[in-house]
Order: sequence, then C-alpha cells, then structure tokens
Amino acid sequence: MRSLNKSSRLRFVTLHTKTAFLFAVGLASIIFSSLFLTRYFFLYSLNELENIEIHRASSQAYAVIDSLSVRQEEASHDWAYWTETYDLLTQSDTGFEERNLYMESLDSLGLDFMSFINSQHEYVAGLGRDIEDPNAFTQTLLKDKGVAQHLNKMKRVLDSGKSGTYGLIREGDDIWVVSVTPVRNGTSEAEFAGWMLWGQHLTDRFPSDFVGILTAQNSIITDLDETKHLDEHIHEEGIDEHDDIDVFHTDSELYHYTSLTNIYGEEIAVLKSREPRTYYQKGESVFYYLIIAIGVVTTLVSIVIFILFRNNVGKRFSYFEQDIKALISSDEVNLEGHRDEFERITTLVQFLANNSSKTEGKLKDTLQKFEALYHSQTLGMVLVVDQMIVDVNQTLLDLLGYQRSDLVGQHVETLCAHSSDSICSAEQLFINLSQGLRQFEAGLNNGYGETVHCVIEATQFEQDDKMAVMLSIKDISEQKQQAVLIDSLTHRDSATGLLNRPTVINLIKGFFQGSDQEQNYSIVYFNASRLKEIDEVYGHLVHDSVLKHLADNLLIRFGDEFTGRISENEFLVWCVEKDYRQLERMANRLLESYSSKISVSGFEFDIGLKAVFVRSSSSFANFEDFSYVGLYALTEIKSTGKRGLVTVDESLIKRSQESLALNRDIMKALKSGEIVAHYQPIVHASTGQVVGFEALARWRHPTLGMVSPGLFVPLAEQRRLIVELGEVILEQACEFISDIQQKSDSSSQNRMSIHVNLSTPHFHHKSLVETLVNLIEKYQLLPGQLVLELTESILLGAEDEIVERMEAIKSLGVQLALDDFGTGYSSFSSLCNFPLDIIKLDKSYIDNLDVNDKAKTLVRNIIHMSQELGMTTVAEGVETASQLRKLNVWNVDEIQGYYFFKPMDKHQALEKFAK
Ligand code: C2E
Ligand code: CA
Ligand code: CA
Repeated sequence: MRSLNKSSRLRFVTLHTKTAFLFAVGLASIIFSSLFLTRYFFLYSLNELENIEIHRASSQAYAVIDSLSVRQEEASHDWAYWTETYDLLTQSDTGFEERNLYMESLDSLGLDFMSFINSQHEYVAGLGRDIEDPNAFTQTLLKDKGVAQHLNKMKRVLDSGKSGTYGLIREGDDIWVVSVTPVRNGTSEAEFAGWMLWGQHLTDRFPSDFVGILTAQNSIITDLDETKHLDEHIHEEGIDEHDDIDVFHTDSELYHYTSLTNIYGEEIAVLKSREPRTYYQKGESVFYYLIIAIGVVTTLVSIVIFILFRNNVGKRFSYFEQDIKALISSDEVNLEGHRDEFERITTLVQFLANNSSKTEGKLKDTLQKFEALYHSQTLGMVLVVDQMIVDVNQTLLDLLGYQRSDLVGQHVETLCAHSSDSICSAEQLFINLSQGLRQFEAGLNNGYGETVHCVIEATQFEQDDKMAVMLSIKDISEQKQQAVLIDSLTHRDSATGLLNRPTVINLIKGFFQGSDQEQNYSIVYFNASRLKEIDEVYGHLVHDSVLKHLADNLLIRFGDEFTGRISENEFLVWCVEKDYRQLERMANRLLESYSSKISVSGFEFDIGLKAVFVRSSSSFANFEDFSYVGLYALTEIKSTGKRGLVTVDESLIKRSQESLALNRDIMKALKSGEIVAHYQPIVHASTGQVVGFEALARWRHPTLGMVSPGLFVPLAEQRRLIVELGEVILEQACEFISDIQQKSDSSSQNRMSIHVNLSTPHFHHKSLVETLVNLIEKYQLLPGQLVLELTESILLGAEDEIVERMEAIKSLGVQLALDDFGTGYSSFSSLCNFPLDIIKLDKSYIDNLDVNDKAKTLVRNIIHMSQELGMTTVAEGVETASQLRKLNVWNVDEIQGYYFFKPMDKHQALEKFAK
C-alpha cells in the first residue's frame, strides 16, 4: 500500500519539475560521462608513452651488453696478432707471463680473465681475477657448448680461414662475456698458433658499472625458472600483462624482460628493466582532483539549471499544464487512466478532430442563414466562432486587401489595429457585446499594414453552445479624413491660416482655467488699423496680399500654435509667462519692421500696425477681464495714434475695468433711464439766434459719474444696443423740442429744430420709419423740425437702397444732415447723389482755420459748393471769435460750438430757451 502511494505521488510530480529535473540530470551525466571517457583515453595515452619509454630503456641496456662483447672482440685482435703472443704459443717463451700477465693488464683492458691455448687446445698460460686456477677455468670455458662447437668447426677449417667467436657464456650463476680469438703471426695471416680467450664477468660488472648512463633499473636474472613461471607470477601478484609480451606493469611499476642467449643460441639469462610509473600515477591523481572539482561544479550548475529551467521555461509548461487540465476537466472527453499530459493531449486532439467535422456541417447551416448578407456589396462580413474567424465575404477582402487564406482560421485579433490613433482589441469587442453595445468604431488592420477606420456592427448568436458573432464592417476612413479637414477649417482662419477667434479664445481660456497660479500667460494684441482702408482703396486682392504679408511674418516669428486672428484687422500672440521677455522683444521687432512702409504687389503701404502687451496678473479675476484689457487698450491707442508696443499698466487696467463695468451695465442703464439726452444749441451764424439743438447722449453712471458718449456709444454698438440707445435719445429729443416749442411762442419764424445722431444700424433698422411716424404724430412735430445726423459710413453701400431709404425718411418731413463731413472717405461730388439737406463741417477743419491756409480754402469752398447745391452748412466745434469771423465772411449758415453754448441738460435748456 505504501509503495503504491509513493509511486503515484511520483507520477504526479508536475511535468515542468520532471522536465527540469531530467534536463539537469541529463546535463550532469553528459559532463560526467565525457569526463570519464577523457580520463580513459588520457591514461591510455600515458600508458603507451610509458611502454615506449621502457622499451627504449631496455634496448639501451641490451645495447650496452652487446657493445661490451663487440668491443672486447675488437680489442682482442691487437693481442692476438701480436708477435710476442705468437711466440708464447709457438716457442713456449716463458718470459711472456712475467712481461704481460698481471692484474694491471686485465684492468687496462677491462677484462676479468685471459688465457692462451695452443692449436691442440692445450692450456699454455692464463690469468683471472678472483680465479685461483686459470687452467681449470679455461677448461670450463672450452666445455661450453657454443665455444666447443666453434673450435670443433675450426679444426676442419684451414689455418688461414680460422676465425674467432664471441658472446655470452653462463658459468653457474655467473654470466661471462667471452671472446675466442685465433692467435696469428702479426705479419702473415696464415700463421695460426692457437687461441686467445678473454672474458668479462658480466654479472659482476652489469648494471653497477653503467648506472650513470642507464635510464631504467636493470638486472640480470639467471634463475630461468623465475621467468618460465612468469605467467603464474603475473596472476599471483596482479601484474597486468601488456599486448607486448615482454612488458608487464603493476600499479606502481613497469617491467620489461629481454632474454640473453649464449654463443650456442640458448637462453641463459633474462635482462629485466624496471621503471616507476611516474606519469601514470601523476596523471591519475590529477584526474582524481579534476573529477572532484568538476563534480562539485557540475552539481551546482545542475541545481541552478534545475531551478532556472523550472522557474522560467518550466513556468510555461505549467501554464500549458493548467490549460490542459482545464481542457481535460471538461466532461466531454474522458481522459481517465492516461499516464501523463502528453497522452491526455493526444486523446484530446483526437476528440477535437472528430468533433470539428461535425461542427463544420453545422456551420454551413448557419452560413446559409446569412447568405443574403454575405452577398452585400457594401458591407464586409466576418463570421467569428469562439473568437476564431470562420468565414469572410468578398467585399471584406476587397475592402481590407486580404486573401481569404490570410483570415480564415485566424484569431479575430488579427484584424485589430493597435495604432496610436485607434485601439481595437478582441477583448474590447466582447466586452462591448456583453454590455449590449452592438455598433462601434474601430481601426482595423488592412493587408498592407495600414489602419482603416471602420464602423462595426455585431450580431451575436449561439452556435452549438459556442458563441458566434457576425460582424458587418463599413469603411469610414473618408468621413474621418473629411472630419479632420472640417476640424482644421473650423479652427483656422481661411485667409491667413492662423488660428481663428473661437479657437484662440478657447485655448487661452483653457490655459487660464487649467493653469496653476504660477503658470501665467502673456499676450500681445496687434491691430493693423489701415487694412480696411487698403481694402477699400486697392481692392480685395491687394488687401489679401498685405494681410498675408503680416500673417506670414507673425507665423515666422511666433509659430502657428500661438498666433491667431481675432477680427478683421486684429491679431493675437500668446506665450507662457516665463518666455514673456522674449515675446515682448519679438513683438517690438515686428512693430519695427512695419514702422516704415512695406512693399506689396508693387505698392507701398503703411498698415498702421500697433500692439499692446498684457501679462496675466492677480489684477484679473477671470479670463474675460484679462482679454478685455488688451482689446480696450487697442481701441484707446487707435484713437491716440500712438505707435510702438504699449504695455498695459495699472491705470490702463483701471480704465479697462471701468469700460468693462460700462459694458456690463449699459443694458440696465438704458432701461432704467440712466442714459439721457443733453442739448447743445445751434445758432444762426450772422444773428446768433438759437435755431436748434443737437441731442447728445449722456450716461449718469451711479458709481463712475457722468460718462462720455465717446466711451459708451462704441460699447452700445458692439453690444448691439445702439438701436435701443438711438430710440431712447430720439424719444427724449422729440419730447424736448415739443416742450420747448409749446413753452415759447409758436410763431413759425422761431420754429426750432432738433438734431439727433443716427447710427448706421439704426438707419437700416426696419422699424425706423414706423418709429419716426409715431414720434412725429405723438409730439406733433412740424416738417423740418426733426433733423437726423448721419455719418459718412452710412453712405457706403448699395447706393440705390440708401437713397430710397433716405427718400422714405424725408417724405415724413424729416431733414437729413451729414455729420463730421471731411473725416471719412466720400468725395464731395458723391454727396450730390444723396438727398441731403444739411452738411456739418467737422471740428477738425474748424480747429485748423487759425493755423492752416489750405484748411481755410477747403472750408470756404465746401461752404460755397453746399450753398450752390442748396444745402445748409453747420460749422461744428467753433470755440473762438476768429473762427466765427472767418466762417461769417464765408457765409456759413449755422454755428455749433462752445463759443456760444456747451451741451446742457433738459432743464437748463428749457429754462434758458423756452420763452
Ligand atoms: P458729434 O455728433 O460730432 O457731436 C459733437 C460733439 O462735439 C459733442 O461731443 C459735443 O459736445 C462736442 N462739441 C460741440 N462743440 C464743441 C466745441 O466748441 N469744442 C469741443 N471741444 N467740443 C464741442 P459729445 O457730446 O461728447 O459727443 C461725441 C460724439 O458722440 C458725437 O459727435 C456723436 O458722434 C456721438 N453721440 C453723442 N450722442 C449720440 C447719440 O445719441 N446717438 C449716436 N448715435 N451718437 C451720439
Ligand atoms: Ca452729431
Ligand atoms: Ca459732429
């Protein structure tokens, strides 16, 4: 039971842990096995090296022994062919022994034994180291198989052909190097006398005499049994036998055996060479440490790899496992009894494959339902089942430039564009659907990697318990582009390309509201006062070129984000507060460049550019105050004609705030009767008798006191209250003249007129004629008693209509006067075309009478020509006796001016003139 639990627990070790573990173990075993393989080959090579070495050492030792025999044989010839030796054997010269046979001779020849035998092999003389009986030893040597065989052979050979022999001889446990040399007469080879035997005691001399030159430890083994039983020896001592039969090794030493043979060819001893296995042992211990070191490192690396693999790569396996588990847990597929994930996946895939053919069949049914829609020429259709695209119609392929195979079988996300200006995601699509949103806009990817703006309508239905969605798609990128174009048209002024007024106002308002207290703004207002005049004189084309000249300069200096056109001839530039000094500098430079005339379309123009600089400050409660002060300052400098940049200061702010207050209060003032007419008498030039009055509007402001019409009339014009104002004054004036008429004696000669200023809008106002009819009726005004003063600007426009209107007014018995004559642009000749009764010469002419001769000529002629045309002339603003004198000389009809009377209120006028 226990073991079963354990094994099943092992089976459920997660796949990613298992994989990581196997990966780490695999890596470790690769490293270890390659390490052991390397060790084997390395040690094998060392072994081979050592074999070569021992071979070499052994050959060297053998060569030493061999060279001993050869050298001994060569040396023996000297003695063998020596006459004295010859004599010893032939004449029994006993003196030879005394002269030559002593130990020093042996030492000098490197010998241990020397003897001479005659041709019958009888001992003649001899000497040996540690040998008591040289004769006996000689006999022993002669009995040696090899020597005996040679000498026997030589018996049958002619003396001249007799040769010696040499080699090893074994004598008991001793090995001797022996040479047998024929002794001859030193002059002729044919003279053979006997044999000379030399010997070296090899076992005594080798290897002790040669230790210095031999690389291995060598020894001569005479116990042949020992070598014969080498096999047993090997097994007993655990010696390894090498391929080369002569080499053997234990763990610590290496042996080589070379057999030594005697002259006869029999093995008499073995040369044993022995070397310690230094390389092998060193190599083995190095490997031992190497394996320990690499073992530790490999274990650590394996652990790290196990952890990393399990955490990184393994994580993905684990998600995969989870998904698989989720799939498996659906009860449709029975996956019980499968060993691991892969078996379960296989089963699952088989199940899905079986199922998909069924699904396909059902799908076809669905597609039929949408058949009609699919043939749509205008709508792209996409069928999505379980978020996968199952079908698309041709229109969609044409619309987005895809091949069918690009889309079918892909996730619906393939269509979604993730560009900066449009975000679409499949996730969002299904969120929208779940919220009941069926139609929405989205950017879709087309086949060329671009984004196409589309309107998508989604229809959701069930398809075999799966969620299916039919998407109908319409390209709206053209509309979008148009929207962008419209947007630019609505935000920019078409003539200059600058931002238009509403945009500028919204932008600055936005800054004002959005900004914190530190982030203030500065604004420069520009006014090109002469643009209108240029338009009237040179025509639209030239005007537009001049306008463009200015707009381009503004754009170059201030950039298109911060520059706007706020009216016909007014422009605005703004910047954040920190850059205000630069803005001020640049505005000054622009003004400078327009201070002299500019050349456009072959003409030279002064556009009358003026500018006001305003900084947002705590004095402004809101944006309206802020923007108002600039425009107010502009209207102020327009009248002063001041050039150069005007910086708005505290006093200007105060004045503008007053103006703003007037602006705010004017409506109420009109209703509540704060605006009243004052009256300035007009006198007959030659008699000085008052012939009429001009009604001049006054505003008795509760806090600001008496306000001049110069301030509030333009305000009323802007606020479209000028008609109301006109009607208030008109009514008061008619009442006044009627009062004064009733109170004075109503003889026709003393009939006085009342002049009322009529604004352009009022002149054109549809109810004007009706109002006049009512007033004349109400106040019983006589013909000619009411005079309406028109300005020259009224005369600009469609001439026929104006004349017709004038005639209509005149038909009521109302006279028409032209006010401020000479300040506008109408030429004197054009006056003839209008049915005017009175001409009012502007004060500026009168002011110039005392100083300017040209003004005199002009005024004199105007008076003269007016009279010619049957019009009455009135001189305005007469302040001095000298002016009056001149005007009288030229027969001006009437005078209005401080010289006679200043304007006065109704009561004063009534008191003074109602007699
Ligand atoms: P205006 O029609 O040319 O009126 C004459 C202006 O000259 C008046 O100024 C008058 O007070 C002033 N004046 C008259 N004689 C002299 C003089 O000898 N010396 C000086 N320095 N000034 C003199 P006011 O009343 O300030 O009116 C200014 C302008 O306001 C008028 O010029 C007129 O254009 C406009 N205005 C006044 N009342 C009305 C009105 O009821 N309706 C309309 N539409 N405009 C009005
Ligand atoms: Ca007037
Ligand atoms: Ca006037």
